[in-house]
Amino acid sequence: MKDVIVIGSGPAGLTAALYAARANLSTTVITGPELGGQVAMTWEIDNYPGFHENPTGAELTSNLVEHAEKFGAELIYDEVTEVDFSGPPHKVKTYAEELEARAVVIAVGASANRLGVPGENEMVGRGVSYCATCDGAFFKDEDVLVVGGGDSAVEEALFLTRFARTVRIVHRRDELRAGENLADRARDNEKIDFVWNTVVEEIVGEESVSGAKTRRTDTGEEGFLEATGVFIFIGHYPNSKVLGDAVRLDEHGYVIVDDHMRTSVEGVFAAGEIMDPQWRQVATSVGQGAAAGMSVEHYLSQQ
Ligand code: NAP
Repeated sequence: MKDVIVIGSGPAGLTAALYAARANLSTTVITGPELGGQVAMTWEIDNYPGFHENPTGAELTSNLVEHAEKFGAELIYDEVTEVDFSGPPHKVKTYAEELEARAVVIAVGASANRLGVPGENEMVGRGVSYCATCDGAFFKDEDVLVVGGGDSAVEEALFLTRFARTVRIVHRRDELRAGENLADRARDNEKIDFVWNTVVEEIVGEESVSGAKTRRTDTGEEGFLEATGVFIFIGHYPNSKVLGDAVRLDEHGYVIVDDHMRTSVEGVFAAGEIMDPQWRQVATSVGQGAAAGMSVEHYLSQQ
């Protein structure tokens, strides 16, 4: 039996593992489908304090892994399929095995929302994408759409201007939700245009995307935007399905924690975007991971 199992390998999970392992606890991280989680797919991180040279998400992830391993954390490249927190010991099943631990940190993060329109699922990988860093380079000198008006949409639109000929941000309102700094950069970028008060109602294409059917939210007028890529950034949902009803969730599916990162179950903690729909920064996830790691240490030392 392990002292600690950390579920998830984003900044929150790897930091919790680093703190737990450094406290001499035997610590296993089950990475989940993407080592590093969402940040691993981020091209450039320009607001992680102390890292002003803008590391890529992959670089930051690899540093976090090395750092956690340096203190003895072990990584298992597998996905959790089921949890049983009726212990301790708590049980965590993966595709390959069942593991037991005295404490668990849930750091399974969040995933990109889908629009839910016809053509979307069919065209994933054929022009529809949720990750500009992953797929942007395939759209060199092409015309692409970005759906959404938040920080993610604008940041990814700016990134796409490195490759695409034009980037049109399609937003359902007439004002961005994104912060002023990003919004200004987008307005100043000559490759970026805005299509205001508009929603995408269908993504169209045969072999690959050729455009999107749209509707104006103010007049109801229908339209068509030609594009070979449609990048969708309309928020996230928590990856709590695998948790079932093992811990208390809020009405949106986020894990409820107290200020010590404790969930409703003794010995089970949570950190990062699975418990934080609000801040969603590498810096805040790392902070929550550190707090969870220290809480685990405190909890186990009292057992
Ligand atoms: P978000 O802030 O929730 O924005 C989602 C956007 O998608 C909104 O503009 C929303 O429109 C739109 N939207 C939602 N559902 C839609 C639908 N069904 N159809 C069309 N449009 C839809 O999500 P986010 O941009 O992913 O950002 C999430 C959090 O991460 C924020 O706190 C953000 O500040 C943070 N973040 C920060 C950075 C950074 O600091 N560099 C980068 C990325 C993300 P409405 O505006 O009308 O609601």
